[in-house]
Amino acid sequence: MTSECISIVGTGYVGLVTAVGFASRGYKVITSTHDSEKVALINKGVAPFFEAGLEELLRKVVREGYLKCVLDCGEAVLDTDITFIAVGTPSQQDGSIDLQYIRRSAREIGEALRRKEGYHLVVVKSTVVPGTTVNMVRPIIEEYSGKRCGVDFGLCMSPEFLREGSALFDTLHPDRIIIGEWDKKSGDVFESLCVGFYREDLPPVIRTNPSTAEVVKYANNAFLATKISFINTIANICERIPGVDVTTVAKGIGLDQRINSRFLRAGLGYGGSCFPKDVKALIAFSKVLGYDSVLLNAVEDVNNVQPYRAVELLRELVCSLEGKQIAILGLAFKPGTDDMREAVSIKVVNKLLKEGARVIVYDPFSMEKAREIFGDRVTYASTATECLTDAEGCIVVTEWDEFRSLSVEDFVKYMKEPNVVDGRRIYDPRRFGEGVRFRAVGLGV
Ligand code: NAD
Repeated sequence: MTSECISIVGTGYVGLVTAVGFASRGYKVITSTHDSEKVALINKGVAPFFEAGLEELLRKVVREGYLKCVLDCGEAVLDTDITFIAVGTPSQQDGSIDLQYIRRSAREIGEALRRKEGYHLVVVKSTVVPGTTVNMVRPIIEEYSGKRCGVDFGLCMSPEFLREGSALFDTLHPDRIIIGEWDKKSGDVFESLCVGFYREDLPPVIRTNPSTAEVVKYANNAFLATKISFINTIANICERIPGVDVTTVAKGIGLDQRINSRFLRAGLGYGGSCFPKDVKALIAFSKVLGYDSVLLNAVEDVNNVQPYRAVELLRELVCSLEGKQIAILGLAFKPGTDDMREAVSIKVVNKLLKEGARVIVYDPFSMEKAREIFGDRVTYASTATECLTDAEGCIVVTEWDEFRSLSVEDFVKYMKEPNVVDGRRIYDPRRFGEGVRFRAVGLGV
């Protein structure tokens, strides 16, 4: 067996995209999941979720024999020399991290290692609170394998930074690689895998201990979430000053190289499977350490109410929402994915329904997921213009490109009353301000 065979436990966004990335460069990859439907789909080359470019490449690597999916984690571990843990780490009720899938994967890997000869490296890719790799994953693997970490098997924590919507690109072109190593050999083996995989595109590599690597991931997401809540705070101030537009303010401060323009787009707040849960987990973890983070609590508070800004802006245009037909453009938590976990759209739609509106929704990729969430409480349109037809109000919730190409004339032509709220700042307020009744996050009127 060569070190070019890897296994990945978990076939969600991180696991499957990583698997396809390695397989696309000639590595033999075995992924494992307990979901037999997913196993069947992946082995047919069908992606269980939408991610740009993923299915085409998945089909190719499965057909060429570079990737297969199995139900039994043990089989994956025994046939490879490096195993990534990429299972989910959701929030518990109190916001703290739920590590049950990490514990279970560690146990399954340990059980398999008991039957395996030779050195094996385990790499934790899931986002886990500091100390998890060393104090939970390591002892569980040692207990179930009967082997010693740093002697019979190696252990690293290497956080994942891919963004849904550009996950494949990010996997193949990361900004940096963080290697949190239990011992030097573990780090050396993992670094040599990275050198072979990225070759001349190898990004900066930082080698450190596992707990520091775990903190890097949380600090990274907490900082980005802070930037979003910061610009949304500025947006809420701008809205109260006639003639001031947060997009110009963001451009103005973004050109300051100390600030940088990315993640400075005002909108309806962050959602998705990572930022909300990671900020919550960091807050809860800090509390356990005896530190109550005023800053992170504020970041979360700002974000919790920001989606409702869209409804308030719409109410300024239509007065009462009772009985009004409102079109929602965009449901996914961001463009390029069908993921609706913690999507802002859920809060917006629920609030509109609570206020008595009749809601019609459209998203290019998330309709199936939306049906699971909203059931028959909303109407589903199959195109953006169908969604707008006869509506008395519209809120743009996700900034898909196809919504950018809608013109003022489209809104006037299809809607019964063209009341438009741009929750993601995709329309030019000079044009829209004249053609339709228009409000936008961060636009002072
Ligand atoms: P996900 O929920 O999409 O997928 C997790 C998968 O793990 C599921 O398919 C689940 O069935 C599977 N699983 C759970 N326990 C298992 C076990 N014992 N054996 C095999 N499979 C098992 O999660 P995700 O979005 O891929 O995230 C995975 C981790 O990576 C999380 O810690 C997350 O915070 C982190 N992360 C996610 C992203 C992202 O954009 N989604 C980015 C960076 C980091």
